[in-house]
Amino acid sequence: MNLAKFPRRGYVSTPTPLEAAPAFSEALGGKVNIFIKRDDLLPGTSGGNKTRKLDFSMADAIEQGADTIITCGAVQSNHCRLTLAWAVKEGMDCHLVLEERVKGSYKPEGSGNNFLFNLLGVKSTKVVPGGSDMMAEMEKVAEALRAEGKKPYIVPGGASNSIGALGYVSCAQEMQQQFFDMKLKVDHVVVPSGSAGTHAGMAIGMYATNSGIPVSGINVSRTKDVQEAHVYKLVEETVELIGDIKGGVPSEAVECFDSYVGPGYSLPTDSMIEAVKLLAQTEGILLDPVYSGKAMAGLIDLVRKGHFPEGSNVVFLHTGGSPALYAYLDTFQ
Ligand SMILES: *Cc1c(COP(=O)(O)O)cnc(C)c1O
Repeated sequence: MNLAKFPRRGYVSTPTPLEAAPAFSEALGGKVNIFIKRDDLLPGTSGGNKTRKLDFSMADAIEQGADTIITCGAVQSNHCRLTLAWAVKEGMDCHLVLEERVKGSYKPEGSGNNFLFNLLGVKSTKVVPGGSDMMAEMEKVAEALRAEGKKPYIVPGGASNSIGALGYVSCAQEMQQQFFDMKLKVDHVVVPSGSAGTHAGMAIGMYATNSGIPVSGINVSRTKDVQEAHVYKLVEETVELIGDIKGGVPSEAVECFDSYVGPGYSLPTDSMIEAVKLLAQTEGILLDPVYSGKAMAGLIDLVRKGHFPEGSNVVFLHTGGSPALYAYLDTFQ
């Protein structure tokens, strides 16, 4: 695979740490060794997985001559925070369209990421009801900006198109080099599965290099069948974009678990609260309530159920998101 042929901005100049989590592993019975890939420490305001995708998306925007970025997300979107942050860094305007997936959840004076949107100087924020056609809403914003003589570029939700997913194909390669350097035989990788760019990229990167390492996604909103199809569609589009993966990637390379979503996207669950507290109190690492907390709840349950053979080395991809914790104070008090 030759990813060097794709333009990127160089937001990720050094590998993020891959750390053992011995106290956390011990708290789960000590039979499985858990390692954490610290993508919560990526550059960009407060870090997180979107930086790897935006490295490629923003390069595409700049190649196309854009001076303004439009993107969308939920009201506490980490993706919106990071897209805005990188737009600031590039000297570009950034406009956000926020989907109020939970009715009444948008508060103009809200904490967490919402606070950061304002602090980072968002140019405009448009809030639309849950279930809206987000691409159509962003097109409307783009149309109005074009009429003002601007050159807008739309980054899709989560930067989860084939261009953005390249960031996680690349992360899989980075991780394999770390496994080699650490003489670590990894048996399994676990990732959160949301807008799917992270999961799709990781599945391609682990499969197409013949690593033999299975990747499991823990869903944060959709059911298993729907999400697996969603991820696989993006796998196929990304494989096509990369262009030199012989034989492609089979659908069996995409596996999702959907038992940890709870009542719905962004709604707290007891197992998420337990996961966030346990990692904080054993390793001093902050998860988030919407993605990494629920994904870690899934990993904890799989370990307790004996899903991974004794002695396995399992890597959890920490995708960031901790600013959202401050919008969930009531949940943790
Ligand atoms: C966006 C996000 C995810 C999910 O990644 P996708 O590529 O959208 O599936 C996971 N964790 C955090 C903190 C995120 O912001």
